[in-house]
Amino acid sequence: MKMLEDRILKDGTVKEGNVLKVDSFLNHQIDIELLNEMGKEFKRRFADKKITKILTIEASGIAIASIAAQYFKVPIVFAKKSQSINLDGESYTTKIQSFTHNRVYDVIVSKKYLSPDDHILVIDDFLANGCALKGLIELVKASGASLEGIGIAIEKGFQKGGEEIRQMGIQLESLAIVDGMDWTTKTINFRANN
Ligand code: 5GP
Repeated sequence: MKMLEDRILKDGTVKEGNVLKVDSFLNHQIDIELLNEMGKEFKRRFADKKITKILTIEASGIAIASIAAQYFKVPIVFAKKSQSINLDGESYTTKIQSFTHNRVYDVIVSKKYLSPDDHILVIDDFLANGCALKGLIELVKASGASLEGIGIAIEKGFQKGGEEIRQMGIQLESLAIVDGMDWTTKTINFRANN
């Protein structure tokens, strides 16, 4: 998506350790007009899919998923990062390794909000090694709901997550795919992707 790629080039910064910072429009301050266009684009790419709910993970996925949800006219559910899993049987739970924080989170969704009748679109901000998405896929599977696809704002195509998810036969749509970035020269290359 050209608008997102242009914005990454204009305002994104590359940090040591293969981290792309997009705090000025996605991860801290949020550009709602950009998110609105991204929401429309997700709807266009998943136009043929019946979606009943969008699933994301707190915190950064919530804004992107919420604005996209207006085009799908469905609720969003966000998986909560929790310090300790409450083993009361009322929640689906999994563990996710955080790329940016280098720690493992317990992640939970109440059983009230995912059911076998649901057709789920998963949305998140970044895809790197795929740990966050694999955790969300596990939660969808545990609920018996159908996973219809995954929408990502920025995929780091040089990390393994995207390839692994596509090999699982899941429709994965990333609005911008970064194929390479160099923090010394501050260059970012995108994969052709529409
Ligand atoms: P994964 O689980 O795919 O390895 O990483 C996905 C999660 O890590 C995303 O939800 C995002 O929060 C974070 N993440 C991974 N790479 C980056 C990055 O380069 N920049 C930012 N801002 N977040 C990232």
